[in-house]
Amino acid sequence: LSLCLPLVLASAGTVQAQMDNQAIEARIDQLLPTMSVKEKVGQLALRDFGMYDAKQLEDIKQQIRDGEVGGFLNVSFSSVDKNAFASLQKIAIEESPHGIPLIFGQDVIHGYETIFPIPLGQAASWNPELIEQGARIAAREATADGIRWTFAPMIDISRDPRWGRIAETLGEDPYLASVLGVAMTRGFQTDDPSQPDAMAASAKHFVGYGAAEAGKDYNAAYIPEATLRDVYLPPFKAAIDAGLMTIMSSYNTLNDIPATANEFALKTLLREEWGFDGFVVSDWNAVMEMIPHGFARDAKHAAELAANAGVDFEMYTDTYRQHLPALIKEGKFSEQKLDAAVRHMLRIKMRLGLWENPYPAGNRDAIVLSDEHLQAARVAARESFVLLKNAKQLLPLKKNTKVALIGPLANAPHEQLGTWIYNGNKKDSHPLLPALQAYLGNDSLITYVPGLEFSRDTRTAHFDKAVKAAQNADVVVYVGGEESILSGEGHSRGDIALPGAQQQLIRRLSETGKPLVTVLLAGRPIELGDVREQSQALMMAWHPGTMAGPALVDVLYGEVSPLGRLPLTWPKAEGQIPVYYNHMATGRPPTDDNYTRIGEIEVGVFQHAPGNSANHLDYGHTPEFPFGFGLTYGEFSYSDLTIATKTVPLGGTIKASATVKNTGKVAATEIVQLYVQDIVGSRTRPVRELKGFKRVSLKPGESQTVEFNLHTDALAFHNQAMEKVTEPGDFNLWIAKDSASGLQGEFTVTATQP
Ligand code: BGC
Repeated sequence: LSLCLPLVLASAGTVQAQMDNQAIEARIDQLLPTMSVKEKVGQLALRDFGMYDAKQLEDIKQQIRDGEVGGFLNVSFSSVDKNAFASLQKIAIEESPHGIPLIFGQDVIHGYETIFPIPLGQAASWNPELIEQGARIAAREATADGIRWTFAPMIDISRDPRWGRIAETLGEDPYLASVLGVAMTRGFQTDDPSQPDAMAASAKHFVGYGAAEAGKDYNAAYIPEATLRDVYLPPFKAAIDAGLMTIMSSYNTLNDIPATANEFALKTLLREEWGFDGFVVSDWNAVMEMIPHGFARDAKHAAELAANAGVDFEMYTDTYRQHLPALIKEGKFSEQKLDAAVRHMLRIKMRLGLWENPYPAGNRDAIVLSDEHLQAARVAARESFVLLKNAKQLLPLKKNTKVALIGPLANAPHEQLGTWIYNGNKKDSHPLLPALQAYLGNDSLITYVPGLEFSRDTRTAHFDKAVKAAQNADVVVYVGGEESILSGEGHSRGDIALPGAQQQLIRRLSETGKPLVTVLLAGRPIELGDVREQSQALMMAWHPGTMAGPALVDVLYGEVSPLGRLPLTWPKAEGQIPVYYNHMATGRPPTDDNYTRIGEIEVGVFQHAPGNSANHLDYGHTPEFPFGFGLTYGEFSYSDLTIATKTVPLGGTIKASATVKNTGKVAATEIVQLYVQDIVGSRTRPVRELKGFKRVSLKPGESQTVEFNLHTDALAFHNQAMEKVTEPGDFNLWIAKDSASGLQGEFTVTATQP
């Protein structure tokens, strides 16, 4: 897969798949006319099993018998019935009018029982193969329990780390999130989703949830259509082109219309422009939430709005079952629309082969938490770590170094798992402390003093003990950040600094003069303040999952070099937000103060100034760390930028290359990034946009020519008429180690077709 070409993936496009699809439509043609309205509406009811007690369970079983339930979410974490998957499915198949199987869904977000890094951490690997493998493993484990549908990938673009759910995203960039979202989708679904260990993926949240104002969860989102199309939609389109089976509509209002009743999003874009043929599920409770939004009068009106806009499957609330039959009688919803929604549901159930394989295979114990899965989670974790600073090559540590291990997250088996871990369990976690003890095999080399019990702890009583341990060690490794509950749904923060008394503890440790390695576990970038200066080495480890400990040992001791790159811009402080690399240029050159008056600007300044960015008096122009940034234990130099095609006609391919050399002392992997800028457009264009990346692993002294082929279609954006066009003209191009540096060249796109 060339990462530079537009994403064209053919998983559902094979001849066999087309034949299967024809057979499926023929089966639906036969089934649909035999179903009653009540049974059809029943297919659109997704019930939350986790909410039921024993008595409600009997009621719901009767509803299944009557053909009034299409599927369940959250079956596996209810204690009501341990065999619920099989017993509910048996009723649907053997006792409901047409024996249509139920679909079971759950949030299998970054692993099932084997927990992988949070999605934002996985995105830092910039490794689609690894991400695909992680999703495959999660699917293997979840399907062993009967879950054939996951509410992932979450491909909301977010430019606001205050938003707690940024932890679940694949970062701020539409290209990166598209490539990685496709990888995740493929991992869950495979090329043949009818296999019993495949799951339907659900891309979410459609659309605009990541733009919640001020990063406050569930807040209104305002996105101009061009930005929506160029920034927020591409990951969804890419996933659909890769065969994505389901989409989840989001909670938020988008430009004052709830996403759950948004005809522009759900009809115009999804069905008419993109030809999506799977089903749309509402988010949990989202249909009824249109009442407090002030958009629906009551439950019946909410059902009417959501169903007419194109939400097929109603999650948790029960308005469709209660009101759609009456709405049809009243002419407010049509039977044709009902049939279309039911067709979407049956199509996906048939593509999943639920009639052929309705029950879990019964081999879960051989699958979940297997050695192979744990090893894969360890690799995924170490590839997610981003080394942000390494003064005097403090890292990697030598094995005979005496370590003071300090901080609230060095031995925190639950916290390292991160958000959305329904099936993850801390008893299966491997934290850093025991992993380090096992690796060094010598307890006298490690003194462990947490100093703070948890990340928000404000008590300083144990600081002296921690400082003493630091004084007696060769190196201090501080592991802190955010516990898992500080990110995720409903957990946005207005202040993104280290919580609790962590900054004070780090200051005390740095005052000992001992070299300090700070490892951060968190669901978002953290305001570093003085911590950057105080730490000789700094590494972002996100929430790494089950295998955090062994993976950290691997990287801290140089068994492997870190290679992760930031999938988002790291702000200096929340006051700098929004700060993202692909912003528009201002009309003013970068100055260190804001007082430059028009009269003082020299005439010569009015030229294209692609680096122009807005600033604050206190934070300046630059973020703490740019998008794409990350160090390794190697040292990479870039030279010999060659653009073989200085002039390219529309429809042609730009060929650019550079030589990348490892001038360091250690073998390492570099993620070489390709950026472009459209210098003049009929709308203003971002100062830089990622268009490709490649991984090169080089031994010390080794070099490689890294080539990119970029089709002119990849330069397209939405013009004022909302047409997607590549405009002829001049472009800047960078081959770079991050979004703020690189070798720069130019090329020109001409109007002539080749
Ligand atoms: C979240 C979704 C999730 C759903 C089901 C909602 O609260 O927004 O992302 O998939 O719950 O658990």
